[in-house]
Parts: sequence; structure tokens; C-alpha cells
Amino acid sequence: MEEQLTLSLEGQKELEARWGQLLSEAENKLGREAVESWLRDLRPVQLDSERIVLGAPNATARTWVEKRYVRTLAQAGKELWGGDPIVEIVIRKSSRTPRPTSEPTSTAQPAAWSRTAPSPFFAPIPLNDKYTFKTYVVGQSNRFAQAAAEAVAGRPGKEFNPLFIYGGVGLGKTHLLQAIGHALLEKNPRCRVAYVSGETFTSHFVSSLREHREEEFRRSYRSIDLWLVDDIQFIADKSGTKEEFFHTFNELYLTNRQIILASDRPPRELRLMEDRLRNRLESGLMAEIGAPDLETRMAILQMRAEIEGVEIPPDIIYQIARTVSDNIRVLEAALVRMLALASLNRCPVSADLAARALGAFVQDGQLVAISELSIQRAVCEHFGITPEELTGPKRDRHITLARQVAMYLIRELSKKSLSDIGQLFDGKTHSTVLYSCNKLETLMKQDAALDATVRELRGKLAQQADS
Ligand code: ADP
Ligand code: MG
Repeated sequence: MEEQLTLSLEGQKELEARWGQLLSEAENKLGREAVESWLRDLRPVQLDSERIVLGAPNATARTWVEKRYVRTLAQAGKELWGGDPIVEIVIRKSSRTPRPTSEPTSTAQPAAWSRTAPSPFFAPIPLNDKYTFKTYVVGQSNRFAQAAAEAVAGRPGKEFNPLFIYGGVGLGKTHLLQAIGHALLEKNPRCRVAYVSGETFTSHFVSSLREHREEEFRRSYRSIDLWLVDDIQFIADKSGTKEEFFHTFNELYLTNRQIILASDRPPRELRLMEDRLRNRLESGLMAEIGAPDLETRMAILQMRAEIEGVEIPPDIIYQIARTVSDNIRVLEAALVRMLALASLNRCPVSADLAARALGAFVQDGQLVAISELSIQRAVCEHFGITPEELTGPKRDRHITLARQVAMYLIRELSKKSLSDIGQLFDGKTHSTVLYSCNKLETLMKQDAALDATVRELRGKLAQQADS
């Protein structure tokens, strides 16, 4: 007994020591600000070459850490203890004792379906608590889409089925989709809401084949009451996957289950659409979300400031809203950055500080969409190379491949022209970028692992809400 106690104390000490190592490695990679704000408060549960399990104080902290830091933590763990550790963030039951879990985190999530999921293997993505109708600011650009979403939430499976929402990156599609999910769950907690992305659907389908779980896959997907499918442009352009998507869609549609889809482009421009599916979508309701006008942008910033519990003078709100116009994610990131600067320097927000915060998003007088920076960062992390190597002239095979992946993803995920992308890579020409993208496409067709890697990265990035 005494021996056991000593052992467990030793174990605890060892765990704390490893936690210290991991934090300082994370600080090297992410900087002090991120570590102090987001990682320091986590509690270590298990830290070794197989698993990094950390306890977060609440769902918001967990979601944030999962979205932004998991890859870096895995990389840091790998460097410290070897192996290829899986990172899991769990919610601490009480503030003192984190609960270790060996199940995939997704089964412990609040998404309704997970609780009654016929199969944890095909669990949907949990809803983000932040994305509700209450926190959605309505303006000219999204009025119709928001009204359609509310109507659907009020009378699911009735006249507006399916609902198809489309619009550019960072304009609030995911937020609206999830708001519908929350609204329905609030009315009926037993409703089986499943939020998935095109990526998730694809990877669920592919693994159902690999693991011979086709039956389970179908049972899971066909038991959904409200199906939210985000970023359907990322459903793999392969006949098996498209076919399955169509069958799932049909089955749910014909039994009056509500389907809501979101995409960065209208149905007619989607590669995956065969006529029969396109007709179905076009016979439902389509709603476009446009870029928000200045007034809406200011209202969104105001709302964010309220949520953060800070007061920001109107002229500063105006200054930020005026500079960042076509991506709400970037708009919010600028605000969050300014607040972080204020709290680090212990000074009030000011026009100066706002200008400094905005500086991070402006290069050569042009606004840099955060997505490009985060794409480059994600690719560097994945391939274990530095940003200098990624954008510089080195031509090792590994680096060249990483560069091709980054160019390809930026082209897919942002609206940049080929020559603009070239500028991000040490002034490469438009044709070099085009060549790289085409080359990567060819490689992906030949190499299933590479194909999976690129799709996974793209899925993560598309999901990533930067705030
Ligand atoms: P998309 O899915 O279209 O790329 P998101 O739904 O992820 O965009 O939105 C990006 C960020 O902007 C999220 O943090 C979201 O909460 C916020 N956002 C977008 N539209 C609004 C809005 N109308 N009101 C408040 N926040 C918004
Ligand atoms: Mg989205």
C-alpha cells in the first residue's frame, strides 16, 4: 500500500516534470503568449510516446486547444519522447482531478448524436457552443440566409428541405449551420443532430470500406434527424463516395429528415454534383451569404467585445472594421490580437495598438488573409520544416513536396490568384505555381497516403475557426 502510494507519487512527479518539458517545448514553437493564455492551465493526465492526454477546464478551452495546438503538442511530444503520440484533450470533471479516457474524445462530446450514436466509430463533429443564433449578427449580407436558417430550425423537414447555404471563406456559414443544430437540440434534446464536413463524410466512408463496417456506417448515417453537412466541396471527387453521399442524402430526404448543406460555391459550380443531386438541391432553398458591409462588421466586433467582456471605443471598432472587410474570421482575429496586446502590455486599447494589431494582417499595404498564414504554418508543422524553408529556394524533395502542398491548399482555400500565391513563395511566377499545383494533383492520384494527408490538412484548415 505504502509502496503503491510512493509509486504513484513518483508517477505524479514524473508527469509534472514531463509537463514542464512539454510546455517549454511548446513555448519555443508557439511563443509565450499562446502558452500562457491557453496551455498553462491544462492539467497533464498522460504524457508519453503513445498518448498526450490533457485536461481542459471547460469545453471552450478544449475546443480552442484542439483547433489550434494539437499538432504542435504532438510534434513537441514526438521530439521529447519519441513515437508518434496521439493528442487528446478531455474536460476535467472537477478542477482537481482530470479524468483520463481511452475513448476517442469525440464520443465524450456534447453533440447530441454522440450520446445515442449507433456507432462511435462514425461519430459526428461536436457543435461549438459559441455558434448560436444569439451570437449571430444579422445584416444585409446574411439576412436571407439567417432567416432561412431560423425557418428551418422552427419547422425542420418541412418546406425548406434541403437548405443550401453558400458563400466565401469566413463569412459565417459554419456558424449558421451549427446555430440550427443548437436551436433544435434546445427544443428537443433527443433529436439526433449530426454535423459533419465533406471531409468527415469522405473519411468515414473510406474507413467503413477499409474496416468492413459498411453496415454500421449506413445505420449511423441513416438514423440522423438533422443532417448538417459543411464544406461539401470537400467531398472526395470519387465515384464511390459521391454515390454513397447521394444515397445517404436521398434516404434522409425521402423520410423528411432536414438536410442543410454549406459550400463555398453554388451547386452548379460543384464538381461532385451529378445532375440528379444538383436538381434536388436546386429544388430546395438556396441562400447566399455575401461580404458584410461596414455597419455589420462593426456590429460583429461590438458583439465580440461584449462576449469578451471588454469595452472598446467606437472609433477603434471603426478603425478595425474599415481595414478588414471580406473575412469575418480575420476581422475577429484582429480584435482578439489587439486585446491580447493590450493585456500583455497592460495598457488600454488605443488607435496605436489597433494599428499594431492590424499590422499582423497587412503586408505591403495589402491585407493578408489569415488563412494563407495559417495554411503555411499548418504545412510547416506537418512536414516538420520552418517557414523559411517552405518559402525559400531550397529544393530537397521533402521541402519541395511541402511547398507544393502549401501552394495547392492556398489555391484551394483562398481566392488568391496564381501570381499572388507566387508572391508568398519568394516571388515565384504564376506558371511555377500552376506547375506545382498540377504536379501535386498528379502525385495525389498515384499516392493514396499523400492524398489522405492533403485532404486531412485541408479538412482541418477549413474547419479551423481562428477565434
Ligand atoms: P465560414 O464557415 O463561412 O468560413 P464561419 O462560420 O466559420 O465562416 O465564421 C467565421 C467566424 O466569424 C466565426 O468565428 C463566426 O462566429 C464569425 N461570424 C461570421 N458571421 C458572423 C455573424 N453574422 N455574426 C457574428 N459572428 C459571425
Ligand atoms: Mg466553415
